[in-house]
Amino acid sequence: MNIVLASAEVFPFAKAGGLADVSGYLPKEWAKAGHSAIVIMPKYGHIDSQKYKLEPLNITISVPIGSWVEYAQLWRAVLPGSSVPVYFLESADYFDRHGIYGDPDGFHDNDRRFIFFSRAIFETLRALDFRPDVVLSNDYHTAFAMAFLKIHYRRDEYFAHTAGVQAIHNMAFQGIYGAEHLLYLAQIGLDQFYPLSWFEFRGAVNMLKVGILFADKVTTVSPRYAMEIRYTDQGHGLQDVLNEKSADLVGILNGVDYQVWNPETDPLIYANYTAESLENKQTNKLEFLRRSKVPESELYSDMPLIGMISRLTDQKGIDLVQEIIEHLLNSYPLRFALLGSGAANYEDFFRHLSQKYYPRSLIKIGYDEEISHKIEAAADIFLMPSRFEPCGLNQMYSLKYGTVPLVRATGGLADTVQEFDPTTLQGNGFVFDNPNPHELEAALRRAIAAYYDKALWKRIIQNGMQADNSSTRSAENYIKVFEWALAKIR
Ligand code: ADP
Repeated sequence: MNIVLASAEVFPFAKAGGLADVSGYLPKEWAKAGHSAIVIMPKYGHIDSQKYKLEPLNITISVPIGSWVEYAQLWRAVLPGSSVPVYFLESADYFDRHGIYGDPDGFHDNDRRFIFFSRAIFETLRALDFRPDVVLSNDYHTAFAMAFLKIHYRRDEYFAHTAGVQAIHNMAFQGIYGAEHLLYLAQIGLDQFYPLSWFEFRGAVNMLKVGILFADKVTTVSPRYAMEIRYTDQGHGLQDVLNEKSADLVGILNGVDYQVWNPETDPLIYANYTAESLENKQTNKLEFLRRSKVPESELYSDMPLIGMISRLTDQKGIDLVQEIIEHLLNSYPLRFALLGSGAANYEDFFRHLSQKYYPRSLIKIGYDEEISHKIEAAADIFLMPSRFEPCGLNQMYSLKYGTVPLVRATGGLADTVQEFDPTTLQGNGFVFDNPNPHELEAALRRAIAAYYDKALWKRIIQNGMQADNSSTRSAENYIKVFEWALAKIR
């Protein structure tokens, strides 16, 4: 099968969150399974061209936008550890800036940037002479590709048998742009073919809605989330649209790229280990604490290290942590290590916490790939108290690293973490239902009690390390959906 994955984020070139990881591993898995996969993404100004060996192709593509034409230059690299080609769209107008989205407020022209990207996908494919069976669009950034495919390109013999699949990684980000953007739609001529209601949402343009309605199949990143977005406010206003499309909506659990996230081989951690050599996990903890400047005299006092790696936003339940962390540090023997960045009020709070409770509170504000691996290897318990979580990757990394996840039962967290039952010895973590600090504390109390029962704790760790959440399985499930999409249009 010829597969194109188009994404605004692809690991390791440009990453803001889990979307990048998934966009990085899926094409590698498809290639391993014998498919022909390519990736198309923007060439942002901050991408390190030298490090990732990007090469200019001397191909200029023309991208028709309404009655005018815009241009992009193509660059090429490969996904590290594979021969999967990645094509980068260079555009001085749209992408040659620092950052992917221009967070926290977003670039003022994100709608135009991503509509341009969505259309440029097809012109790139033609220029490369890559005739796709499937275009996989990811989130709202490429959602207009589904409309361009259905409205324009399928009329063209070249794309007549190409299916469009829209993946939803997070319903909270829909790409909603105000009423004046409806005019832009008219300028680019899309509204002549389908009713405006396919593009419009509460008087504005909703890019994700466009992707959902025009795609042949729609995926989201866990089975539980596929239900939640239809039946609860997790649909963020698009519940009805998703229900209308429910026959074409499938939840596929994200996976872990075990080439990147594997304690047995990870070059970024202090000592490699397996379920049979957990003493080396202890080495990671000690070394992490030592490098975090925990005094030598305190290094060996046996208390659990609670880890967190997260965007600092309400979605991730950071407000719950904020509410209760001082109480926890005052009431329980524990250390807390957090790596994260996001809302300024949270960043300030944790900076303050780090000063007040140092060396039991170890905080790093920022984004740091290397430290994230070190925390996964060092921590005993990994905390993810998310208010909603489409899939979540860190709980699956944690399972692999023998770091026991403590999560709220929502979305992919509910699909991957089961409360440990001391009588049956089944389960791989600790789970609470309602997003309040009391339930979080109760779950933590259960976890800490289990931590001090060393035989029990080892069992929980080993249950987790046995889980197969591989990206291979996830990628196979996408192929099934692609086959359904193709059966639908052919
Ligand atoms: P989301 O995409 O909603 O942020 P996911 O759990 O799906 O959440 O994916 C988050 C990804 O981003 C993980 O790979 C995680 O390790 C990484 N990550 C988040 N914050 C940081 C950070 N501050 N430094 C390094 N990696 C981070």
